[in-house]
Amino acid sequence: MKAIRSLTLLLAVIAAVRMADRFPFSAAVGAAPAPSAGFVLVAHGGAGDYSNMKTEQVEMRRAAMVKAVQAGYAILARGGPSMDAVEATIRVMEDSRLFDAGRGSYYTREGVPEMDASIMDGRTLNAGSVASLKHIANPIHLARLVMEKTPHVMLVGEGAEEFAKSQGIELVSPYLFFNEREWQRYKNAKSAEEKNKSAGFSASEEHGTVGVVALDQGGNLAAGTSTGGTVMKMPGRVGDSPILGAGTYANNASCAVSGTGTGEFFMRNIVAADICERVRYLHVTLDQAANEVVMKELVEQHGDGGVIALDQKGNVATPFNTNGMMTATVRADGKITIQGWSKNAKPIIVSATK
Ligand code: ASP
Repeated sequence: MKAIRSLTLLLAVIAAVRMADRFPFSAAVGAAPAPSAGFVLVAHGGAGDYSNMKTEQVEMRRAAMVKAVQAGYAILARGGPSMDAVEATIRVMEDSRLFDAGRGSYYTREGVPEMDASIMDGRTLNAGSVASLKHIANPIHLARLVMEKTPHVMLVGEGAEEFAKSQGIELVSPYLFFNEREWQRYKNAKSAEEKNKSAGFSASEEHGTVGVVALDQGGNLAAGTSTGGTVMKMPGRVGDSPILGAGTYANNASCAVSGTGTGEFFMRNIVAADICERVRYLHVTLDQAANEVVMKELVEQHGDGGVIALDQKGNVATPFNTNGMMTATVRADGKITIQGWSKNAKPIIVSATK
């Protein structure tokens, strides 16, 4: 009897192992937590050229990033989930009016912002995404609600805003997004375009999209990105930020990535997924994967931008092929390191708890 029971158990184990072989995907979902990498959060404030930006403006962005990262750090430090830390950090940046996201979003050719955002949970592969929003103050929060409260992954435009209303989110007037800096940028872009009589305005030197990747104490990864897109984009244009695998991706089995740069290149090259899948299938380091995609493949195509990438062991890679990409990184020791606003910028270290 005992022998039969042992045999049955053995057969069950073999069947389970063979199932896992046939569906390797199931091994990724709910993959085992990392063996105590502590916790890590990395934020970016967009890749681009900070050299023409006034010093006060750069300092204001740095201060806003510190405030944002402190919000995420507080959640991770008390054992909270990486998804909450990603959302909280991005919300502070959306509210700051300093980045191309939320209240600081760039304008479309029609002179109003249209915003995109997405968030992804590396443990479950659940994700939520929104695009072409005109009346939502915190697109990252709506993306989270799409994930949690609908059977879908992505909602766009009016449908997304109707859903927001049903969740008690106020639809704000586009005037909420008015700011002098963006209005001037819009007017300059318009007149430059008229002078050159060119149909498309390229402002690849200007980026301020925000994104966050985080690893929590449970060993779970998450990623999120929020943006107003590119300057003078056509109404209805959607970039890479809300497209899973292009501008945002998270999977405990590989890594979490948030990208910034001219989204068309990130979509065509499925940048975020490419980095994670290189780690997963080619078993290269995170650094190697991120560098090959951003510094080689994108560069070969003149695709400007950068990424923040994080794995379950707490490895971080932040390559960018533009003049700058401001990033802030914090680990369990509570020190926030801000760097990248120019290639030679000396990192600044501040406390996460003050
Ligand atoms: N990737 C964003 C987009 O193309 C823009 C950016 O990162 O600056 O919408």
